[in-house]
Amino acid sequence: MLIISTVSGARKAFDPAANGGQSCAFVPTMGALHRGHISLVRKALETGLPVVCSIFINPAQFNDPEDFRRYPVSPDQDFALLEREGVAFVFHPGMTEIYPDGAEPPRIYPLGPLENILEGKYRPGHFQGVARVMDRLLDIVRPACLLMGQKDYQQCLVIRKLLSLLKISPEFIQCPTLREPDGLALSSRNLLLDPESRARAPRLYETLCWARSRVRSMPFDQIRRRALHRLEKAGFRMDYLELADLENLQPLARYPGDPLVLLAAGKIGSIRLIDNVIAG
Ligand code: AMP
Repeated sequence: MLIISTVSGARKAFDPAANGGQSCAFVPTMGALHRGHISLVRKALETGLPVVCSIFINPAQFNDPEDFRRYPVSPDQDFALLEREGVAFVFHPGMTEIYPDGAEPPRIYPLGPLENILEGKYRPGHFQGVARVMDRLLDIVRPACLLMGQKDYQQCLVIRKLLSLLKISPEFIQCPTLREPDGLALSSRNLLLDPESRARAPRLYETLCWARSRVRSMPFDQIRRRALHRLEKAGFRMDYLELADLENLQPLARYPGDPLVLLAAGKIGSIRLIDNVIAG
């Protein structure tokens, strides 16, 4: 496994000419890898293409400096995990490699209405930051295939939009959310949960499942209200719980007859968790 930290090294290593004519399968991450990340890596390996996993904690997507400061970092453990899986390349660049011109964004991406709803509403600037780093990474890696997790459902839609804006079309593979046995979605931030918050955290998924089981039988405003109430009683300070259109995430007033997505975000203790489930 080759660990690459410069853009020039990456361009050389990921050049299809250096890999028997093959472009790679790309798994972008912010490190502190867990089984969820590894499930994406395994899916990438199944393509038979050389796999690139990037590890870069992107300051541009953190609207809360405290969240950035305490984000877990474990490069050596991450490298060992990826090596064991059989990943060909780790791209682990420093800040100036990704942002040689500093913090000022060079452009605004017209991401449309997706940008400012749900996560975008509670994390202003987040998706511009995600788009910025992904534009840069995609230009360096030039993958044939891009793998991302349903765990960050809105992010998947934003990246699909970005691909269309950039007029590039790597195959986009959305991978299912891996969970702890008690239902909590795996997340690097789970490491930061104190024991009491960790014990309460599975209520987020449990409540989404409760809500999902009622989409055909209960008015949506009632589902929303009761689900939020359950979560607040469990100790969450909720940002939102929404029943939304699968493609554009616009809130739905009633069951549309087609699949929909239920998304939620809130803080337990000082840690903000998000999760989602598909219904219908
Ligand atoms: P992150 O390091 O949090 O930026 O995540 C990197 C990628 O892993 C993203 O595409 C996430 O959606 C995905 N991911 C994070 N948690 C999970 C999980 N529990 N199951 C599957 N994929 C995940």
